[in-house]
Amino acid sequence: MPCTLFDAAPTLGGRANSFFEPTAAQWVDHGPHLVMGCYHHLLGLLARAGNSNAIHWQPSLTLALWSADRGHFRLAPSRRLPLPLAMPLAIGQLPGHNLQSAFALVRLASQPPADTDQTALQWLAMLNIPHTLIRDLIEPLCLGSMNEAIATANAASFSQVLSQAFTNQHSARLGWFTRPLCDALIQPLLHYAKQCGVILQPRCCIQRLERNHDHWLLIDRLGKTLAPCSQLILAVAPSVRDRLLNRTPTATDTGVISNLHLWFDHPLTLPYPLVGGIGTQGQWFIDVNGMMNGNGMAKWHHYCIIMSAENNPRRESVQPQLLDELATIANDNAPPTHARLVRMAHATHLVRRHNNHPMPHGIIDGAEQPKPGELPATLELAVMRGQRAAARILEHS
Ligand SMILES: Cc1cc2nc3c(=O)[nH]c(=O)nc-3n(C[C@H](O)[C@H](O)[C@H](O)COP(=O)(O)OP(=O)(O)OC[C@H]3O[C@@H](n4cnc5c(N)ncnc54)[C@H](O)[C@@H]3O)c2cc1C
Repeated sequence: MPCTLFDAAPTLGGRANSFFEPTAAQWVDHGPHLVMGCYHHLLGLLARAGNSNAIHWQPSLTLALWSADRGHFRLAPSRRLPLPLAMPLAIGQLPGHNLQSAFALVRLASQPPADTDQTALQWLAMLNIPHTLIRDLIEPLCLGSMNEAIATANAASFSQVLSQAFTNQHSARLGWFTRPLCDALIQPLLHYAKQCGVILQPRCCIQRLERNHDHWLLIDRLGKTLAPCSQLILAVAPSVRDRLLNRTPTATDTGVISNLHLWFDHPLTLPYPLVGGIGTQGQWFIDVNGMMNGNGMAKWHHYCIIMSAENNPRRESVQPQLLDELATIANDNAPPTHARLVRMAHATHLVRRHNNHPMPHGIIDGAEQPKPGELPATLELAVMRGQRAAARILEHS
């Protein structure tokens, strides 16, 4: 079936893309993307595109953590035990934890939230989860996966994340791309799409849709008709979808992700390519060169500090604080050679209740708009939405 992909941007890839940073003279991702062993749909797609080796996998789950009072420590469940047993044991042995944390983890795994509108905080309070476990594990996992703090994040979706991620040793592993996303993910997928016969049309911003008999006409900003099509997947933000359909916009909340990219003229000593900060402004401190094993040909040593759900009204003051945190974690006070803050104001659409408006005949909704109980906005969800939409097209043809 002929298929054309129109995208308003000059380069395809959307949020999972990279930009060229002129001072550092290298490609930099809008944000480092972490993946998990439980991303079955994304991994299946990468395998079909012959691109499975773009990801470096942890042999088993390891979370390198740091806090001011405990210094560096690690959560590394034993590889020899089944994960549901290995995780509570590993948690119980973390500095500052004991059997209370281990039992709390078992309660979390065995008692999903009864109410789909409950917040994660309400769920954790009901289960009497100790503050230390929330601070060291639950809040970082919630911010990382939902891009939202436990106070407002939906418990049913968060519980889905936990149950899918921590099913077994294989699912729980983290993976990261070993080259910038444009190279590691987007180009191979575009190549695969072309092989499947998809026509790629960047720089085509759809401004209007018009119904013409049994076809939809896609009209661009200049009023030019780009193509008539019998079926159309709208894989744009919900706000763009609603504008194109002349609908009252559905309320959608988005979450910010800010990344402070830093370049140094010498390597810093981080004990692991990814260090989670506890009680810090930055959540993840990433050694980008370390993750890429020297790929990407950087002239300097590249680090990135991630702040999920960042909502700081005094953003300027955050940068020096993040630098201080990295200096303490890496025990190195040298100033960076270059710094760049990338703030994505609408990084992800948050899990929210919304009404399901029926779509006009021939149009399929592919927008990122997770509902309570569904998985939050990630690469995995994007692939799932694409596959669901494609299946519906095939059903109707
Ligand atoms: C900083 C950051 C870090 C992230 N980290 C992670 C992570 O670690 N792990 C993870 O799994 N996920 C992560 N994500 C989320 C992930 O990137 C997104 O969920 C995923 O890329 C969404 O893909 P999408 O195709 O649905 O949307 P998008 O990538 O937003 O694609 C929508 C496309 O629609 C186009 N468009 C918009 N309007 C029009 C129009 N009128 N006409 C034509 N085209 C139009 C846009 O140009 C865009 O290319 C992160 C996101 C960000 C921003």
